[in-house]
Amino acid sequence: MVWEPWTGCYKISDGCTYCYYYGLYSKRCGQNEVVKTDDFYKPMETIYMPRKKITKYKMESGKTVNTCFTTDFFIPEADEWRTEAWNIIKQRPDLNFLFITKRIDRFPISLPNDWGEGYDNVTIGCTVENQDLADYRLPLFTSFPIKHRFIACGPLLSNINLTPYLHNIELVTTSGETGREARECDYNWILNIREQCEKADVAFEFRSTGSQFRKDSVLYNINPKMQHRLACETNINSVG
Ligand code: SF4
Repeated sequence: MVWEPWTGCYKISDGCTYCYYYGLYSKRCGQNEVVKTDDFYKPMETIYMPRKKITKYKMESGKTVNTCFTTDFFIPEADEWRTEAWNIIKQRPDLNFLFITKRIDRFPISLPNDWGEGYDNVTIGCTVENQDLADYRLPLFTSFPIKHRFIACGPLLSNINLTPYLHNIELVTTSGETGREARECDYNWILNIREQCEKADVAFEFRSTGSQFRKDSVLYNINPKMQHRLACETNINSVG
């Protein structure tokens, strides 16, 4: 299930360099303009069931809602809309809203007054792609009150020492970069992060090899359709 209350993004870090969604597509469609969408109130939309004579939400209870996957929930251009978005999230405690961000440093802006230690129905993933960004973003990420959090290492561009930042983290995901100009992802980096997670008792998932995948000193060019499957076939995930 997807909710895009706004759309559009622009590059802010190393991992954005070959962002597939905002490369050619952005030039054609103006995707680097941040705009509020017609779906802004989607989680509140209802449908009347004449046979049962009941009105129910279109977004079914109990689902995970992938939020802002064509933008960033914390992008500055959405500051004026975010308060209302938080309010919608609060009104649907039966859904799990999940967002991934490269702008976790903007988390406190427009935070609801009753946020407290975090809403139970919000899961936030902080993206890091190299050590410098991990050392900048993760101390902030782990210091903010968030009930459910994970680290998304993607696109993984180097080995990363995550060990100082793994407390209160539910999951670490890893994936290589996709696309014609993708930079390589070394399987040793993946294994190293997995080992750190094991030691810290944090769930680990290898999601995608990326397009340029180095294993046992051999560089493989992997078809996009195979990248997720090959990552799964390594059988190194601690989650399904
Ligand atoms: S923040 Fe994400 S969506 Fe935005 S340009 Fe960077 S990689 Fe693309």
